[in-house]
Amino acid sequence: MEIIHKQDPALLALANLRDYDAVYGSFSWDAARAELDGLPGGGLNIAFEAVDRHLAHGKGDKVAIRWLGKDGSRQDLTYGQLAAASNRFANVLKSLGVARGEAVFGLMGRRPELYQAMLGILKNGSVFSPLFSAFGPEPLKARMTIGSAKALVTTDALYNRKVAAWRGELPELDHVLLVRTTDKPLPEGCVDLAAAMAEASEDFAIAETGPEDRALLHFTSGTTGKPKGAIHVHGAVVAHHVTGRYALDLHPDDIYWCTADPGWVTGTSYGIIAPLTNGTTMIVDEAEFDAERWYQTLQDEKVTVWYSAPTAIRMLMRAGKEVADTYDLASLRFLASVGEPLNPEAVVWSDETFGKPFHDNWWQTETGGIMIANYAAMDVKPGSMGRPLPGIEAGIVERKPDGGVTEITRPMALGELALRPGWPSMMRGYLHEEERYKKCFADGWYLSGDLAMRDSDGYFWFVGRADDVIKSAGHLIGPFEVESALMEHPAVAEVGVIGIPDETAGEVVKAFVGLKPKFESSEALRKELLGHARKRLGPAVAPRDIAFRTNLPKTRSGKIMRRLLKARELGLPEGDLSTLESDEKK
Ligand code: ATP
Ligand code: MG
Repeated sequence: MEIIHKQDPALLALANLRDYDAVYGSFSWDAARAELDGLPGGGLNIAFEAVDRHLAHGKGDKVAIRWLGKDGSRQDLTYGQLAAASNRFANVLKSLGVARGEAVFGLMGRRPELYQAMLGILKNGSVFSPLFSAFGPEPLKARMTIGSAKALVTTDALYNRKVAAWRGELPELDHVLLVRTTDKPLPEGCVDLAAAMAEASEDFAIAETGPEDRALLHFTSGTTGKPKGAIHVHGAVVAHHVTGRYALDLHPDDIYWCTADPGWVTGTSYGIIAPLTNGTTMIVDEAEFDAERWYQTLQDEKVTVWYSAPTAIRMLMRAGKEVADTYDLASLRFLASVGEPLNPEAVVWSDETFGKPFHDNWWQTETGGIMIANYAAMDVKPGSMGRPLPGIEAGIVERKPDGGVTEITRPMALGELALRPGWPSMMRGYLHEEERYKKCFADGWYLSGDLAMRDSDGYFWFVGRADDVIKSAGHLIGPFEVESALMEHPAVAEVGVIGIPDETAGEVVKAFVGLKPKFESSEALRKELLGHARKRLGPAVAPRDIAFRTNLPKTRSGKIMRRLLKARELGLPEGDLSTLESDEKK
C-alpha cells in the first residue's frame, strides 16, 4: 500500500510551481534564461546573476549571507557588500595575473571569505574548484594536480598543515592567498588576502563570459570509486536559478539554509548560487553538525526553507523527536533533502516532528542541478524522488548488448535512470577523462548509473546504484528497499546493505546496522531485526545476516560507502578512500 502525503493547501497557494503539468508542458530554457539579466554586453556570468544584478534592482542593502561563526559570532553581508568584496577579490586575482579559464581552488571551512572568493573568481572569468577543508594532504594534492591549479585560496592554518609540504611539486600553482587565522608569520611565497583586498578597488569590470565558458570544476563524491572532475559552465546559472525556484520553492523573502558544505556540489549550486540568484537571505553556519545547534539555528534565524541530506536527517532522528520539540520551528515552510535515498521512515518522522515532510530530490555532480524532485504543491509519496523538473526529460532505459539503450515505459519497470541532455547545468566533460565522459551517453540519453523505476503517475523511485544492486536467486534487490525496511525498526539509526557471494543464490543480502543511543547490540536484537526484515520483505529479499557497527563508513558529503562495507567484508582492496569521513577504524 502506498502512503501519499497531501500537501497543505496554504503551502500550495504560495508555491512557485503550482501547476506542474502546465509548467512542464510549456517550459523552455530560453524563456528561463530571460528571467535573468545577463551581462550588459550580452554575456552571462554566474556571479553577476547571483549578486550584482540585485544591486541594479535596488536590493543592495538586503542581507545576502548571514554567517554564524563557530564561536557564536554573527556577521551579515548585504548584496552590496558581497558585490564589493567579490570585486576586490577579483581585482586581487587580476593583479596577480590569474587569467580567464585558469583554475583557482578554494580550501576553507564555511567562512565568509570563501563565498567572496568564489564570486570574485567567477567575476574574473577564472574557474572555481572547491575542496573540503577536512581533506588530508593527498586528496588535496591529487585534485589540484588534476585541475592544474593556478591559485589557491585558503587559511594559513590549513596551508601550513596540509599544503606547504608539497606546494613546490605543483609547477603551475603560482599563487597562494591566505586568510590569516593564526598569529604565525605569513608563510613564504603567500599573499596576505586581507591586506591585498584592503588595497584593491571595489570596482571591477566583470569578465564578458558566455554561457559556454567554464566556471566550475566539481569533483564527485567518490562513493563508487575514484572521484571524477566534472566541468560546468556559466550557463548553468539558468538551471540553478530555475530549479531553486521550483524544486526548493525559493522566494526572495525566504531565510534559506542549505546545510551542505561548499566542498561538494550541493554546497555551491544550492549553498551559494541558487539562493543568491533568487535574492534570498541565506544562512551559513561555520560549525559542524550538532542537533541542538541546528534546531537553535532554525528557531533563532527563523529559517523558512531548509535543504539537507538523509544522513543529517537520520542523525536528527537518532537524537529524538523530544529534542526538536523543545524548539519553536514554526517558521519552517519547506524542507528538502538530497544526496542519498531518503527512507520513507524519515519523511514520516519529519512530518510528525516538524509538521512537514522532507521533500526528496535527486541529482548528481554531473547534472549540476536538481533533476527530479518533490514539489511544494505536489503530493509526496514517501520513498519516491518525485517527478522531473520542467525542462528535464527523464526515462528508464535498458542497456543493449550492442552498447545502445532502449527506453522502457512500462510502469514500475526496473532500469537505469537516464536523462535527455540539453539542460544548461549539465557537465561539459570529465576533466582529462574523455573516454569515460563519452561512455555516459547512448542513443540520445545521458546514463546516470543509478537504477530506478517510474510509476504510472510519473514519480520516480530510486532502487540503488547500478554497482550496489544485489542479484540473489534470480531477484534483483535494491539496497534502498532493504535499508528502508530496517529503518522502520525503532532500534535502527542507520543501515547499509550489500550483497555477498553465495554458492547457491549467487549473492545474499547482508546488512550493517547502527543503533540508536538507547539500544545495545545483542544476539537477541540481531534475531529480532532479521525477523522484522523477513516479515517486511519476505525471505527472498530480507538480509541473511546482520552485523552491528557503531559507525558506517561515509563520504565527507555524508553518503554511506557500500563499496567499502563490501570490500572489508570480502577482504578486497579498499580502493580510493580520499573522500572517506567517518569510519570505525579511525
Ligand atoms: P561518485 O560518482 O564519485 O561515486 P557520487 O555518485 O556519490 O560519487 P555525487 O555526484 O555527489 O557523487 O552523488 C550523486 C549520486 O548520489 C547519485 O547518482 C545517486 O546515486 C545519489 N543520490 C543523490 N540524490 C539522491 C536521492 N534523492 N535518492 C537516491 N540517491 C541519490
Ligand atoms: Mg556518481
